Amino acid sequence: MLKKIRTLLLNANYQPRAVIPVERAFALWFEDEKLGAGIGKIDIVLTAAEVHSGEIPEQSRFWRSPSSSFPVPLVVALRKMRSPLFDLNNTSVGTPNLRGLMKRDRNRCLYCLREEHEFESGNYFTMDHIVPRYRFRNPADAHHYQNLALSCLSCNLKKGGRTPEEAGMTLHGIPLEPTRQELVAHDLLECQKVFVTWCREGGPVPEGLGAAA
Ligand SMILES: [Zn+2]
Repeated sequence: MLKKIRTLLLNANYQPRAVIPVERAFALWFEDEKLGAGIGKIDIVLTAAEVHSGEIPEQSRFWRSPSSSFPVPLVVALRKMRSPLFDLNNTSVGTPNLRGLMKRDRNRCLYCLREEHEFESGNYFTMDHIVPRYRFRNPADAHHYQNLALSCLSCNLKKGGRTPEEAGMTLHGIPLEPTRQELVAHDLLECQKVFVTWCREGGPVPEGLGAAA
């Protein structure tokens, strides 16, 4: 079973670029089914069969079709360089979204400072417009990181259509525009760290990285 396996995609210069589902890695490798494997857009750098093979179940190390068997790729590299992840000229962080806010505000409600595991049931993270949208002539102007706070639903409801001051609530932290690195690089660097440690020290495959049960 290949489900849950994720593959680290490197750029042509071997800098990490993304973590992709293993099915996508196979698609990039085959490129064109008629032409066969190994002529696609990537080279396979490391397969599950090569790493701590004893600890990865057999069915997770090889992908079998009725006629052939392929080692499951854990790390693949693009043959042609794609634009680097950290283009110094590109500082855009894109449209704010909940995932971005969770990273910036470190998974805490900026009002009650609770993390998700401390929530009562039915409570969850939302995006709070610090100055409510209806106060802007163009509501789209309200939707930028400097006017957004990660807020749990109950704090968001309590605040309602008011500013924190009007609602008598304290905003813990200054809502800054996050950097691109904060939003994009964090996950990749974490993944790379986990991967390198695992290659060095062995042990069970880390969650979210390679083969799962
Ligand atoms: Zn809260």
